Amino acid sequence: MKNKKGLVFSGARPTGRQHLGNLLGAIQNYVALQSEYDCIYSIVDIHALTTVETTAGLRENCMEMALDWLAAGIDPEQSIMFIQSHVPQVMELHTLLSMVVPMGKLTDLPTFKEKVRMHPQNVNYGLLGYPVLMSADILLYKAEIVPVGIDQAPHLEFTREVVRSFNYRYGTQVLVEPQMKGTKFTKVLGTDGVNKMSKSLDNEIEIAADEETTQKRVMTMVTDPARLRRSDPGNPDVCNVFSFHKMFSPQEDIDMVDRECRVAGIGCVDCKKLMAKHLNASLAPLRERRRELETKTDQVLEQLYDGADRARKIADQTMREVRDAIGLPRYRA
Ligand code: ADP
Repeated sequence: MKNKKGLVFSGARPTGRQHLGNLLGAIQNYVALQSEYDCIYSIVDIHALTTVETTAGLRENCMEMALDWLAAGIDPEQSIMFIQSHVPQVMELHTLLSMVVPMGKLTDLPTFKEKVRMHPQNVNYGLLGYPVLMSADILLYKAEIVPVGIDQAPHLEFTREVVRSFNYRYGTQVLVEPQMKGTKFTKVLGTDGVNKMSKSLDNEIEIAADEETTQKRVMTMVTDPARLRRSDPGNPDVCNVFSFHKMFSPQEDIDMVDRECRVAGIGCVDCKKLMAKHLNASLAPLRERRRELETKTDQVLEQLYDGADRARKIADQTMREVRDAIGLPRYRA
């Protein structure tokens, strides 16, 4: 690595089969960055442990996510794609970083407060340390650029503070301050038309579902709430189906829906059917690739193992530098 414009790192928890929010908000961006940057993409299974109640399905979820990432165009030859726990050095760095992190900083983070609200029965030490582990992920690879959603901005700012504290405390330059790179689609709404698309809210549209399932899911989408009858004119500007048209339909259909909805020339049912058709068409190549990859999961595992081997080499080097910067006693290599 280190031939291109810089090093990108991003990770996502293994949530299994990916939805349109993941695709538009993260994966497409990951794919696009590959041509200009050296990229490292991680399936962060240790982070998942902070909130899951059971680890049943964890391995399957990692594989499902890897299949979607590959089908969407992550190139494991060009980029490093791996499972976080396969590079255990991240946990070592997490512990060392934790020494320069004030407790109050962690308890003040809005993401922590939100998680406590959501899981009051399961406020574990790992959950508090989530941003420290995220920092370790980024810093272990000396990533310069981190593409994340806006909700992760406080975590990235936190990481930058960790770098400054660590480098100052130990009089070193070993850790690199990363920059955030925002994504174009920061909040893809779910089928309810109100909340961010998310598996936990059951409002998602899976990218690799079959055409019929996709259409059924689209038909449940909430449209302009003020349009009660077919004969009522609608307002595409407040309709989530129309925002999907803008992402997946050809310009002439976008214009037609924009025009006809306002004069009740097209009803919501036909409008959704049309959108589902275009959505299915644009996802067809991805789905085709995924079906093929599903028959080669052994090969996908090998790609993940290779990615981990490459990541571990970088991690080992960083850890040597970090241990030295701290002044830890050396050990026999
Ligand atoms: P994590 O909590 O590990 O980020 P998520 O599954 O919530 O896992 O998200 C994975 C990635 O997909 C993140 O970069 C997130 O910003 C993006 N993402 C998830 N849902 C949406 C959405 N509805 N709209 C836009 N981006 C999304």
